[in-house]
Amino acid sequence: MQNFRTIKGTHDLLPEELNLWREVGNSVHTLMQQNGYGEIRTPAFENTELFVRGIGTDTDIVTKEMYSWTDQGGNTLTLKPELTAPVARAYLQHQMGNQNPIHRLYYIDALFRRERPQKGRQRQFHQFGAEAIGSSNPEQDAEIISLAYNIFKKFDIQNMSVRLNSIGNAEIRPAYLESLRSSVKKIKSKLCATCQTRIEKNTLRLFDCKNPHCQELLDEHAPFIFDSISDKDQAHFEMVTRILNEIEIPYFHDKKLVRGLDYYSHTTFEITSSALGAQDALCGGGRYNGLIEQLGGKSTPAVGFAAGIERLILAIDKQNISRNLPDIYLIHFGDETTVTASKIANDLRLNCGKIVVMETLRRSLKAQMREAGRCGAKTTIILGEKELAANKIIVKDMSTGNQNEVPISEINQFFNKTS
Ligand code: AMP
Repeated sequence: MQNFRTIKGTHDLLPEELNLWREVGNSVHTLMQQNGYGEIRTPAFENTELFVRGIGTDTDIVTKEMYSWTDQGGNTLTLKPELTAPVARAYLQHQMGNQNPIHRLYYIDALFRRERPQKGRQRQFHQFGAEAIGSSNPEQDAEIISLAYNIFKKFDIQNMSVRLNSIGNAEIRPAYLESLRSSVKKIKSKLCATCQTRIEKNTLRLFDCKNPHCQELLDEHAPFIFDSISDKDQAHFEMVTRILNEIEIPYFHDKKLVRGLDYYSHTTFEITSSALGAQDALCGGGRYNGLIEQLGGKSTPAVGFAAGIERLILAIDKQNISRNLPDIYLIHFGDETTVTASKIANDLRLNCGKIVVMETLRRSLKAQMREAGRCGAKTTIILGEKELAANKIIVKDMSTGNQNEVPISEINQFFNKTS
């Protein structure tokens, strides 16, 4: 028989690990709601064309990483490789812009990209992120950056670095790209093969190259887009930095941080942690004032970020994470005790809010005691036939070893008092 296994680049998440995932999820929900963001969930797949238009035909995602197929009805569909385009699609479809001038949305979701798997890079991965649609002002950019930063801060991520830049408005781009192309053409033969292919079509992405030699050459020869942005855009950038200073978010102005797509404008940012190794990006974001229009809506300013949950989990120091240990392990033996034990467990969960694990393997007393110790329960309840006949239980404190007898009718009161 075939042994089925997970597909390359995908992973099972098992209960132990998911304790931490849940903590991350809870923190994301709390922080987003504190900032007035509402959760949005979009379907796992969309029309392929949405991503082609929303992400851009010259990107790695669209040219080689999408999981796309034609369904039985002849529709060309794609598992979502990112969430900004689906959120923008939902914004348009539900005419949110007509209801309110500003919408703050956030998500936690699974994404799919056929990348080369390695540590921190998977084919199914998860992101949390936020999109603020409607405001063109710098305080909105700062709010988005603070959302990402504060989640990482909450989990005490070490060696974090916030890189920040502005690529100005779309009008300055054609002239800038022309001057960038002509400067790098002069050093073309010294650049790596990938950079050479990017000069004509994907010029801005030259700055994404991981090769240190290419980076040195760019430092020396390439003009930076930041140096050609307008005074108004410069003022926008300065205001973002003033707010970040005020709310004590340290950043580094990296003039090489650009986003290669047409609809990006103004602020770009990325948060990295050297604790992560080669795939060091925790999150990326920026302003995308052109996207909603590109998808068929009115010109609408927007800014957002997306952060990888697997990367965050990798960067968290696991020693500081608490596990949800059972409050009570309920030991019992005998047919009759089973019914009463089930009732006691149910009452303690519903009426006292306790985490109660009840024995269902009917093991020996010794084996059940061992199990209570292994699972880390704070308290053990023992209900044997003798106790049942006397209408009471034994409550054992696992840290002190102290035992009490408690009448069955007073269990809820007893545990409400001790909590
Ligand atoms: P992007 O949507 O490419 O801007 O990525 C945003 C964030 O998602 C990155 O900074 C990573 O933290 C994470 N990420 C992107 N691609 C992957 C992947 N293949 N596997 C795991 N995390 C990823």
